Amino acid sequence: GRIYEITKVRTTCPYCGVGCQMYLHMKGDQIIEVSGVEDALPNKGRLCVKGRYGYDFIYSKERLTTPLIKENGVFREASWDEALDLVVSKFKSIIEKHGNDAVGGISCARSINEDSYQMQKLFRAVFKTNNIDHCARVCHAPTVAGLAASLGTGGMTNSLGECANTNLLFCIGTNMTEAHPIAATFVKNGKRNGAKLIVVDPRRHRLADYADEFAQLKVGSDVAFLNGIMNVLITEDKYDKEFVKEHCENWEDFKAKVLEYPPSRVAEISGVPEEQIIRIANMLWDNRPGMALYTLGITEHNSGTDNVKSVANLQLLLGNVGKENAGVNPLRGQNNVQGACDMGALPNTYHGYQYVVDPKAREKFEKAWGVENLPDQLGKMIPDMMDGLKTGEQKALWIFGENIVATEPDISHVISCLEAAEFVVCNDLFMTETTQYADVIFPAAAWSEDDGTFTNCERRVSRVRKIKDAPGDAKPNWWIFKEVAKRFGHNWEASSGPEIWDNEVAPLADNFKGLTFDKIEEDGIQWPCRSVEDPGTQILHMNGNFARPGGKAYLSDLDWRPPTEVPDEEYPFTLSTGRRLYHYHTRTQTGRAKGLNDLLPEEYADISDVDAKRLGIEHGEKIIVRSRRGEVKVTARVSERIQPGLVWMAIHYFENNANWLTTSTGKDSITKTPEYKACAVAIEKI
Ligand code: SF4
Repeated sequence: GRIYEITKVRTTCPYCGVGCQMYLHMKGDQIIEVSGVEDALPNKGRLCVKGRYGYDFIYSKERLTTPLIKENGVFREASWDEALDLVVSKFKSIIEKHGNDAVGGISCARSINEDSYQMQKLFRAVFKTNNIDHCARVCHAPTVAGLAASLGTGGMTNSLGECANTNLLFCIGTNMTEAHPIAATFVKNGKRNGAKLIVVDPRRHRLADYADEFAQLKVGSDVAFLNGIMNVLITEDKYDKEFVKEHCENWEDFKAKVLEYPPSRVAEISGVPEEQIIRIANMLWDNRPGMALYTLGITEHNSGTDNVKSVANLQLLLGNVGKENAGVNPLRGQNNVQGACDMGALPNTYHGYQYVVDPKAREKFEKAWGVENLPDQLGKMIPDMMDGLKTGEQKALWIFGENIVATEPDISHVISCLEAAEFVVCNDLFMTETTQYADVIFPAAAWSEDDGTFTNCERRVSRVRKIKDAPGDAKPNWWIFKEVAKRFGHNWEASSGPEIWDNEVAPLADNFKGLTFDKIEEDGIQWPCRSVEDPGTQILHMNGNFARPGGKAYLSDLDWRPPTEVPDEEYPFTLSTGRRLYHYHTRTQTGRAKGLNDLLPEEYADISDVDAKRLGIEHGEKIIVRSRRGEVKVTARVSERIQPGLVWMAIHYFENNANWLTTSTGKDSITKTPEYKACAVAIEKI
């Protein structure tokens, strides 16, 4: 037989925020196998099913290969010059007629850092607006806001590997076995090494099976629950007095607020028994240092930022911040959502969290980018851009690699916003539920068709490598943004991911100053990395050094408030949403991997065995789930893991996507992150 040469290319997984390091085993330009990189951080050779088998999408026959322009409601193929010129002339005329803030952009948390950097630069330096945001708005914006307010920096404080060595793991609002599978393996290692495991969640998901304590709290009661735990710690005098005195502000107001939440009151609000609240508080005190881990079960609430601050409060009170095997550890969802935040795809900061309202930062970027008068007003967040399309305040929207029709709450509302837009541009790999509302679609290079970096949830910047050219006429995203800038008269020099990073990203932000491309040829580096000699930062705030004015952390005094929409007679159930192991978001990638489709071929609504019995619903029967926004027909999955009164669904299949039901009016008061985790629904047997 014929002998082929097999080559191995190291890269970073394109799916979740764990950022697993993998080898692609290549025969020509075909991936024939994927394996983990032994001993490399963060995954030490481990990979989950998505990382191992989810790569077919790059070879899909459905890839977009040429620019498309919509004419009379139908897309036709176009040359790059024609499509780029059309976008430039439309953006120019909209800006001239309606002002710079009439255009807005949504960047991509799936694509490389260098693409997000380039898109926010286009909006700020060329279109002169800060209307740039990305999907952190719908997931971890409360983390960035809450941790910045409490600790001074919005990133995960510690590292995933520490889970294996800590004394205690406090996992709240995170179904990591499915959403961050390799992170969950480190938690299980920790448990095996003797750590205590506390799981807090409305669902008894798989990780709860390993827990020493599982608290099944009611959806949206987190602030009350955490105040209850801290009430026990303070009243029983079990908190780190020295740490609090030396390193924290606002102690008196914080303490007074917490004392309003005795376990008896908290038990009523949260449904967690008083004795269990006391037991959990004692377990936390007796097993320090411990790590707190959370995901979107904390952030996607109307009190999302308060929930994040509450988790930070707990860890500060226990003295569990600024040391090894401890900390506040948000698990970021998408592969590069940390990176898209870091790169300034946010309406309030340039990359490296340099504020657009700070005149010094503006001056620095005006000089570096060779422009004048960078906008000094905060830009709009995604929900305001969407609503603005309907009111007419917003005319054009550029959507880069996000399927917002399926991922934003209340699909009917999102569609009506896009239909009201004057001009919509998309960069994408495929036709999606969203691109069909575009006027121009740019076909883009995918993961493994371009060189650049992803940043995982532990702030680790790792290499993403090109293994083949993009199909047909598809182009790298940074090139698309550069070509538009050129047609506005801006000549940007950098012409590759590595050049963008080394010439602009690193020198223009303290966090990345010492993080050059050649340093991450092998293993990634965790920011901050401030000089050539700096090896990066595994743990933030070491020795109580907080990046807030005055150098201290802030203990927030927080009140609990119920979700915006609570069950009533007409809609007696709470719907909560999330994702499952075998698919990723709206399946634009995993839906094109045959094996993964076989593993999860349809969507389910998980309901409790108690409710199923009462309503006469059998496992596997079709039901209707209805909210004030819409209804879906879906297969019921009856489970004793769901608490009575709760319905749980994911967003993987469009026809019965949970977002036909979720609310766009309930949102976090500070970051406007939608309340995906709580809305009122009714269920009905068909
Ligand atoms: Fe990829 Fe996340 Fe799975 Fe790792 S855990 S292989 S990063 S999807």
